[in-house]
Amino acid sequence: MNELTIYHFMPDKLNLYSDIGNIIALKQRAKLRNIKLNVVDVNETEGITLDGCDIFFIGGGSDREQTLATKELSKIKNALKAAIEDGMPGLTICGGYQFLGTKYITPDGTELAGLDILDFYTESQKERLTGDIVIQSETFGTIVGFENHGGRTYHPYGTLGKVTHGYGNNDDEAAEGIHYKNLLGTYLHGPILPKNHEITDYLLEKACERKGIEFEPKQVDNTEEEAAKQVIVERVQKNN
Ligand code: GLN
Repeated sequence: MNELTIYHFMPDKLNLYSDIGNIIALKQRAKLRNIKLNVVDVNETEGITLDGCDIFFIGGGSDREQTLATKELSKIKNALKAAIEDGMPGLTICGGYQFLGTKYITPDGTELAGLDILDFYTESQKERLTGDIVIQSETFGTIVGFENHGGRTYHPYGTLGKVTHGYGNNDDEAAEGIHYKNLLGTYLHGPILPKNHEITDYLLEKACERKGIEFEPKQVDNTEEEAAKQVIVERVQKNN
């Protein structure tokens, strides 16, 4: 059986609103392709290399936990940056997405340093952006999820798509997340992957491509996943 390994960074600090469900979804969709997904929890980064890593995942956390996690991850930020540049697929959620940038400004104006892996920043406000969100994506089709964040993120990179209901990166651009090489960052908790099989498969397929193993069959029966997605689409249309 083919195998992939996912590094789950800082699960002890970053796991808001069931972010762990993303790992479960990846495992399940990998199993459908006869691939075993090994999960390595990384809470301390001292001496860690990414040599054995095929995909990485970073969940969301409060401003406090985010600050602690940034400190820990800064020890391997060069390796993480090199892996992202080399096309390693990764998924980062909310706080985990924000700290890939240069800085995070808290609602009281305090500037917290980011990992500076990509050139963008986030500014937080007391008023939070919460609720169901629907996005139309050229790469993934319809994406659904739930957002809850004070941070407003501004960046020049590709996004996951256009927000048709909800907020996404900030109050005014109607765009959500980041898509840079095979790195995805998003404000969607809930978690995102069980609700969006296209994104789950994308991460696995990119990891397989990079490792030189098969991702077959490419199509599986997604009837139930699509029906579940439709529930959210119809719910937001009804409330509009
Ligand atoms: N700092 C984040 C915010 O913008 C934390 C929230 C999160 O990860 N859900 O509120």
